[in-house]
Amino acid sequence: MAAELLTGQGVIANNLQNYDLCYRSFNWQQERGELNGLPENKGLNIAYEAIERHANSELANTIALRWIRKDHTTQDFSYSSLQHLTSRFANVLVNLGIKRGEKVFTLSGRIPELYIAALGTLKATAVYCPLFPVFGPEPVFQRLSRGEAKVLVTTRALFEKKVKQLLNRLPSLQYILITDEEAHIDKNVLSFPRLMEEAGDEFSIPPTDPEDAALLHFTSGTTGMPKGALHVHNAVLMHYMTGKNVLDFHKGDVFWCTADPGWVTGTSYGIIAPLVCGVTNVVDEEEFDAVRWYSILEKQQVNVWYTAPTAIRRLMRMNIKPRDIYNLQSLRLICSVGEPLHAEAVMWGEKTFGMPILDNWWQTETGGIMIANYPSMKVKPGSMGKPLPGTEAAIAEITDTTINIITEPGKQGHLVLKKDWPSMFRAYIHDEDRYKKCFRNEWYFTGDLARKDADGYYWFVGRADDIIKTSGHMVGPFEVESTLMEHVAVAEAAVIGKPDPVIGEIVKAFIVLKHGFTGNEKVQLDILAFARQKLGAAVAPKEISFIEELPKTRSGKILRRLLKARELGLPEGDISTLEKS
Ligand code: AMP
Repeated sequence: MAAELLTGQGVIANNLQNYDLCYRSFNWQQERGELNGLPENKGLNIAYEAIERHANSELANTIALRWIRKDHTTQDFSYSSLQHLTSRFANVLVNLGIKRGEKVFTLSGRIPELYIAALGTLKATAVYCPLFPVFGPEPVFQRLSRGEAKVLVTTRALFEKKVKQLLNRLPSLQYILITDEEAHIDKNVLSFPRLMEEAGDEFSIPPTDPEDAALLHFTSGTTGMPKGALHVHNAVLMHYMTGKNVLDFHKGDVFWCTADPGWVTGTSYGIIAPLVCGVTNVVDEEEFDAVRWYSILEKQQVNVWYTAPTAIRRLMRMNIKPRDIYNLQSLRLICSVGEPLHAEAVMWGEKTFGMPILDNWWQTETGGIMIANYPSMKVKPGSMGKPLPGTEAAIAEITDTTINIITEPGKQGHLVLKKDWPSMFRAYIHDEDRYKKCFRNEWYFTGDLARKDADGYYWFVGRADDIIKTSGHMVGPFEVESTLMEHVAVAEAAVIGKPDPVIGEIVKAFIVLKHGFTGNEKVQLDILAFARQKLGAAVAPKEISFIEELPKTRSGKILRRLLKARELGLPEGDISTLEKS
């Protein structure tokens, strides 16, 4: 593929022109040199790199954030105005007595207050943790409580619906800041706009060690409740480097990441990377809608678009030929992440937009893109591409005590990454044991299975565990099972991901009923509604089957993979540990 593209913007040379050369000669020191660092050598702070350094430069009046409301009207925030607003929020936190390392959460749709709170929190050296607004009260509680939230920024409606009922179970939550409330409600539930108005709009970022905690992202595990992956300010090196080399940001670019900041992509690439690279970041308040999305690409003259396979599959089904209807001249690059992007989708991009959709791979724990297809590198449709410069990936055989790197091309194994890239998570909060178990020698275990071909391209095979990916979101079976068990009729529950042509997998539950209950439609609907109300639509099961008994190992662990194999009519594999009834 050419390293220069002729686009609506004229001829643009890709930032990464030659992958092999860049990979061989890469050094992190040089990347660090391209960032500013805090004045007077006071360290490295994500928010400083994202806002202050541009606000104090020729980019001051460039649009940093363009917010599209549900009704299609827009509001722009320049780097300079974002500087003042985020400084106000940092002052709000300081005025409330929030200290370095304490956790500030948001639970809201994609509204400007979320972005202001995220970046203001980082300025104040507190830790920012986003929550997905479609979560029900139980997932919200689990995360606020495990993360020891001190402050929560939310809307009146979400507060009433999801948070109020939890307050007596959340002793460490001190302040709730309501974005759409003009007056304080009581001494703990305060008006966000009023606090902002009263705070000063200048803030000097305190010294920040690159290893200071910055971001907390919850992700699901197969056992236990969600894990809080902690990232540090040094992660900004990765955000910057991948923005440059994978998203190929150029001066003047308009970028649109469709992910919600409640998930890691929506923070690393929906907030941080575009701002650090000084481009214009488009944020749409509304959910997926094909016509709306194509209109945004046209109207906002989006140059770089970062989206997900579930959305791409939805667009593919609509049978719209967007280039016949919309002027998409500005669009230069489309990237995808979150689930496997099948070869047909890559090629559909070529046919529909005149460019292949470039898949990339990463996860909450990696904090940034780790494996990618690059605009200047030959695309092998269906492959995730090659490791980022400055990182090292491998395929390995793993036993309980050993790790053996596989060098033979094409052989399937565990995808592992060599430790200590800048955005690597530094902890699972309150769970050191679990953190340690992710590493052996110098390797981090991703939990994914993959292959590497003779040309060094990586191909996704599947998860090595029972985690479910639905609409691109990780769902931990344990969390769902625990809630189902709270229903009066449920004796036991097991949850699997059932393949779905559009959203990747749906959450399916197998339920053993308590004595006296019959598995009829009424009970089924009642359990579905109960789960939806407690867990929210993003996490709750969409399908339920009743079953006499759950298959378990002799030590009592549910064999979810066996349930899945039976559901899909696949070979049952090794069932030597199955408890015989
Ligand atoms: P999350 O931590 O929620 O971002 O989910 C990370 C997981 O999503 C990875 O461990 C993979 O299982 C899956 N994933 C992310 N990107 C890709 C991709 N490009 N292809 C296949 N699976 C992916």
